[in-house]
Amino acid sequence: MTDVVYDCVVIGGGPAGLTAAIYLARYRLDVIVIDKGESRAATIPLSRNHAGFPVGISGLDLLCRVRAQAEKYGATLRQGGVVTIEKDGNVFSLRTAAGENVAARTVLIATGVFNRRPAMPEAMHDDAVARSLLRYCPICDAYEITDQRVAVIGTGDRGVNEAVFLRSFTEDVTLISPALEHELTQNILLV
Ligand SMILES: Cc1cc2nc3c(=O)[nH]c(=O)nc-3n(C[C@H](O)[C@H](O)[C@H](O)COP(=O)(O)OP(=O)(O)OC[C@H]3O[C@@H](n4cnc5c(N)ncnc54)[C@H](O)[C@@H]3O)c2cc1C
Repeated sequence: MTDVVYDCVVIGGGPAGLTAAIYLARYRLDVIVIDKGESRAATIPLSRNHAGFPVGISGLDLLCRVRAQAEKYGATLRQGGVVTIEKDGNVFSLRTAAGENVAARTVLIATGVFNRRPAMPEAMHDDAVARSLLRYCPICDAYEITDQRVAVIGTGDRGVNEAVFLRSFTEDVTLISPALEHELTQNILLV
């Protein structure tokens, strides 16, 4: 248990956690963000769908700006991974992997999701993402592949739906099943 009790601890310092921290700090609450530093946003080479950035913005640049904005209004940003949360009366006690303790009256979890990576060497994967050859979000990026040759890695409803969605942007779409056999049902084939 520590002496300082924050109004809110935000776990995760990606765009979601930092945006929450800006709002909370501007409500004049004492807020701390604890972040492991593995935001998916950090891997965005250049985002072109973010309102207000007509020439695009990299994920790292965006995170840097949002961190500065949160700090400007008084949010405390701390590097670390939260490993345990316990409640003692009205106070939550959090412990980080480094053994630090943080106490707060409320906890906001904004820990994001993990990419399900295709089976390939990590260095090759990271290079492909950095060069925008491998993408994770048809909603964000479909526009960018207009009239190009595209392969969707996936199968079943998810894979087929993403491939069909991308057909609105390019005629050349191949659906690749990572497990060799496609899991397609008659319903899907009739879509
Ligand atoms: C290659 C790529 C390109 C993308 N391009 C775009 C785009 O152009 N436009 C767009 O809008 N979106 C894009 N996205 C999606 C965007 O990155 C995510 O929607 C966004 O990052 C989600 O924000 P988040 O804060 O929810 O999660 P994240 O950004 O993943 O942040 C979660 C944070 O929580 C931390 N965390 C997790 N567990 C703990 C713990 N126990 N303790 C402390 N911290 C923890 C993580 O380390 C991480 O820093 C892209 C994603 C990828 C992978």
